[in-house]
Amino acid sequence: MITEPRKLAIAESRGLRLFIISVSVIATICITCGFLGMSFYSRGLIREEMLNSARRNFTNIVLMRRWNADHGGVYVIKGPGVESNPYLDNPDITAVDGKVYTMKNPALMTREISELLNKEEGFFFHITSLKPLNPHNAPDERERTALLSFENGVREASWEQDIGGRVHYRYMAPLKVEQSCLACHAKQGYQVGDIRGGISISFQMSDVQKKLHSNTLTILGLATLTIVLVIGFIGIFFRGLIKKLEQARKALSALASTDQLTGLANRHALFERLGEEYARHKRNNQPLSIVMIDIDHFKSVNDTYGHATGDVVLGQVAKVVRAGVRKYDLAARFGGEEFLVLMPNSDLVMTEQTAERIRIAVESQILVDSTLGRMAITVSLGVATVRPGEDTEALLRRADAALYRAKADGRNRVAVEAA
Ligand code: GH3
Ligand code: MG
Ligand code: MG
Repeated sequence: MITEPRKLAIAESRGLRLFIISVSVIATICITCGFLGMSFYSRGLIREEMLNSARRNFTNIVLMRRWNADHGGVYVIKGPGVESNPYLDNPDITAVDGKVYTMKNPALMTREISELLNKEEGFFFHITSLKPLNPHNAPDERERTALLSFENGVREASWEQDIGGRVHYRYMAPLKVEQSCLACHAKQGYQVGDIRGGISISFQMSDVQKKLHSNTLTILGLATLTIVLVIGFIGIFFRGLIKKLEQARKALSALASTDQLTGLANRHALFERLGEEYARHKRNNQPLSIVMIDIDHFKSVNDTYGHATGDVVLGQVAKVVRAGVRKYDLAARFGGEEFLVLMPNSDLVMTEQTAERIRIAVESQILVDSTLGRMAITVSLGVATVRPGEDTEALLRRADAALYRAKADGRNRVAVEAA
């Protein structure tokens, strides 16, 4: 049978478990969100850094081209591997010493430096236009889309693209016609400020991807560690709390079932246990007996020595009663100066013997001794054992009747159940 306090404890521990699980889930969600936010933020920072790096490179290239264009192109000594630009009219000149020089205009210089960089760095840039003079400078599909968007006022474009099996970060911004460009490009109908093409910058993302990957792994590891630590802490904290609550509940229930004056079980605890023992007796048919005890002439103890002494005597009798029973018996304060001992698995003979032992112990051990005189304390006891078909109320009535007989027969005696 599950008792009320036990039911309460089960419901409470279920509620607490649910609470701990909820707190853990909420903590996990919060930590995960926090770390996801961190992860996205740092990814954003890395991407922003890539964009800034691409913008710096773009500016460098534009400046380099401007320098070249401002000088109307630069001449380099012609030799093996240094070819003339076929898109220029008269690219070569011969010096007075007979050396041949060939013109590197901005477009060619840009392309050659890009090829050099690509060999060394996995980084290249591409000058391109919707109307290229040199077919090498024709835009690829993505560049064409970006160029068209520039004509609609878009200031820059960036995207990721697989080139030769490797992911590249690509950035592109428009190239505006400057005065120095017109020397070569006026014939295409351009005017200063027109968008005449763009420069796209590409670099491999493998290093960045590695960084992003290790960043994600670090954040994942930290998040897992934090979640484990937080849940561990919650577990330890609540385990301690549950233990303390359990102790407090036990202390409270002990307090609620104990008689404050004598320290014995109170009436409420007695009736609860009586119900349990009666049910057990019904199941296993083992005898169940009770002893009802009443202090003789207790009123005169109070009257003679005062209520406080009466309380002391009550405590002393309670102690003797408790000492006289087995540990699985229950000694309780039944009322004012009445006690009841519940004796499971004890037959009438055994119970009567126990009652007699208690009677002798009280008689021999408790004596009120004060300046007002001496008074021996005695008790009368009524013993009853459950009879077949009898309920607990009838059992209590018969023990009471036996006690009444003990009183009537002269007190300080044990009387066994009445018929
Ligand atoms: P009897 O032998 O017939 O039992 O006589 P009695 O005087 O013991 O019985 P009675 O019922 O006349 O008186 C019981 C007294 O117990 C009356 C009451 O004041 C006293 N009493 C009840 N509870 C307490 C208590 O907690 N402390 C003290 N000091 N006295 C109590
Ligand atoms: Mg009484
Ligand atoms: Mg009495």
